Amino acid sequence: MGDVGPFKGSAVHVFKKNLDLTGVIEHIMALDDVEIVDVAQDLDFATDLAADVVFVVAVDNFEGKEAAGGAVEDLVDGSAAAAADSIHAVEFRQVEGLLFRVGEELGGGSRGEGRGEREGEGNLGLTLGQGKELPSSSLSKMAAIAISFLMLFSLIASTLSHTQSPTFMAFVLNATALPPHDSFDYIIVGGGTAGCPLAATLSLDHRVLLLERGGPPHLNPNVMTQEGFIPTLRQVDPFHSPAQPFTSEEGVPNARGRVLGGSSAINAGFYSRADDQFYNRSGISWDPNLIERSYQWVEKAIVFEPELQSWQSSLRDALLEIGVQPYNSFTFKHSLGTKIGGSTFNSSGHRHSAADLLNYARETNIKVAVYATVERILFAPSDSPTSKENAIGVVFCDNLGRYHHAMLREKGEVILSAGAIGSPHLLLLSGIGQRNYLSSWGIPVVTHSPFVGQFVYDNPRNGISFVSPMLLQHSLIQVVGITDSGAYLEASSNVLPFPTPVHSVFMRPPSSPLYFSVASIMEKIIGPVSAGSLGLVSTEIRANPSVRFNYFSNPVDLQRCVNGTRKIGELLRSRAMDDYRFWGWSGGDFRFVGPGLPENQSSDVEMGEFCRRTVNTIWHYHGGCLVGRVVDENLKVMGVGSLRVIDGSTFSISPGTNPQATLLMLGRHMGLKILKERMQKTTI
Ligand SMILES: Cc1cc2nc3c(=O)[nH]c(=O)nc-3n(C[C@H](O)[C@H](O)[C@H](O)COP(=O)(O)OP(=O)(O)OC[C@H]3O[C@@H](n4cnc5c(N)ncnc54)[C@H](O)[C@@H]3O)c2cc1C
Repeated sequence: MGDVGPFKGSAVHVFKKNLDLTGVIEHIMALDDVEIVDVAQDLDFATDLAADVVFVVAVDNFEGKEAAGGAVEDLVDGSAAAAADSIHAVEFRQVEGLLFRVGEELGGGSRGEGRGEREGEGNLGLTLGQGKELPSSSLSKMAAIAISFLMLFSLIASTLSHTQSPTFMAFVLNATALPPHDSFDYIIVGGGTAGCPLAATLSLDHRVLLLERGGPPHLNPNVMTQEGFIPTLRQVDPFHSPAQPFTSEEGVPNARGRVLGGSSAINAGFYSRADDQFYNRSGISWDPNLIERSYQWVEKAIVFEPELQSWQSSLRDALLEIGVQPYNSFTFKHSLGTKIGGSTFNSSGHRHSAADLLNYARETNIKVAVYATVERILFAPSDSPTSKENAIGVVFCDNLGRYHHAMLREKGEVILSAGAIGSPHLLLLSGIGQRNYLSSWGIPVVTHSPFVGQFVYDNPRNGISFVSPMLLQHSLIQVVGITDSGAYLEASSNVLPFPTPVHSVFMRPPSSPLYFSVASIMEKIIGPVSAGSLGLVSTEIRANPSVRFNYFSNPVDLQRCVNGTRKIGELLRSRAMDDYRFWGWSGGDFRFVGPGLPENQSSDVEMGEFCRRTVNTIWHYHGGCLVGRVVDENLKVMGVGSLRVIDGSTFSISPGTNPQATLLMLGRHMGLKILKERMQKTTI
């Protein structure tokens, strides 16, 4: 029978939720030309066994396309009624001449500590009777045996979790270990928020190389915890830290992820889907079914319901008190009012990121290289009427300074997922940009694309911070107020060590540090409409390009900020905030850290001046390779062939309150879309 590992030589069915395994197995056994050779089960160990189980039944021995197709149709529509309800959006796929059918949850997992922390499991997990024929009399026993095995695995896995490398590390290599030349169907530049789900998805049918300039996230303890959020942003250096610092031309410090998982591995973890208007406004050609499926795929794997901390509860109460209504409780959806969003930190404060989605890759089809910095995209003349040049591969450099060439196979593509700074930067250095500008840098022009690096946006963040009279827990964003005046309201709280007076005469230094808490309320404006640009400072990819965001250059943005900061004023005056005042004989005051709001909050001029003076970033910068300007609706780079950009650089507006949910979804969505397109082309 040979290797019946994940999908190879098998028709594979994925079922989920409360499946009566016995019925399915018996049904398959009754089909001609079909023989069960393997039962594999994919189960998230932290989830209730009965409530959310993924069963994978692999069938083999079919004569060919018709037989397999018929068998699968029978299975879905026929007498396995118990199973039929549980099968999700099944579709056919052809791999290496074999037809198999894949359920919606292909490679998917469920909420919980996640597959990322499991050891010793392949893509489909536990297998029983692999390569052996199973007598039908033993079938009902099989389910029970399988479940016992799963429980055993569950026990072992939960013991191993937190002490082991994530599963995906089985196919992550230091770039130094890669050969100087190799070829792939898809070469993805940037193992970030969109790049990881994209690579995992494409690897299901194709040979994929994912190139990431940073290292694995779990090697850095600060990256992996909620408390490590600020230290990660502080412990920066120009070339190696997981957070790469950069400062915009207007002097606002900023950061971008340089680690497997990208910015999702250094961010504040808040997870909230795009607003409904975003999909139309983005210009991207979406498949509505894939949007929902892709969100769910991400959410099951790496998103959690946060336990509200006291400061976050106070913000929620204050938002409701000032009329940011209705209360939408916990939801991933974007609607007007106050809500609790998702978090990529679990209840222990342990981070999950896009890197964990690599657990759903097909291991035999993917290579992930870390410490691999892509320096150039390679092109060759094409005979297509729409493009003179096609991307044919990339050149990347490893940590030892050695160069490697990764080349495309026939019909392959290079896909940039290097983020809103990284993707336009790499296009420019590869000769795609404004002709005269490139020539002035001595870069040979591949195609004249005047808008590369133009229309770069950053949503300004403004707000206040104050010392809390009581100690608060650390909290990153959990609650958001979605107002109707163009601003979103969010909050965080930090515990900081109290600086002890070194030479105090009256006081002995304390044996352990004292702590105090700082609470912050911030507003982020929607959009923004003020656009900036990005330019080269050298031809070295490791050096940050120069970025100017032109914060508030459009008065619409300033008015939105005035509206948002006014709301902060209202929040401070709410009863829910009284606990955070220091009370004296003359009343209660906030002890602000940094500037407080202007006295006269009814003055647009004073509030506008506050916005300009205190502008900061919320790290939601985007643009630089906009749809309709640099890439088309399928995110293909216009003017050249075999090259796409799939990341936040294609957005002209930041989706929803916070972008990572949409970017994670985008990676999965585009991966599925590309698979589907290629499959349709092969079938025709
Ligand atoms: C500090 C911070 C806090 C944030 N907080 C939140 C939040 O709470 N919620 C939220 O929704 N969003 C948040 N965001 C924003 C969100 O994380 C980003 O918008 C999103 O992750 C960007 O995704 P991306 O795929 O476009 O790029 P990224 O995730 O940044 O991925 C780009 C990847 O490409 C790699 N790369 C770049 N150039 C090269 C090259 N030449 N060769 C190889 N690899 C390369 C990078 O190392 C990186 O891994 C935050 C961002 C930051 C920085």
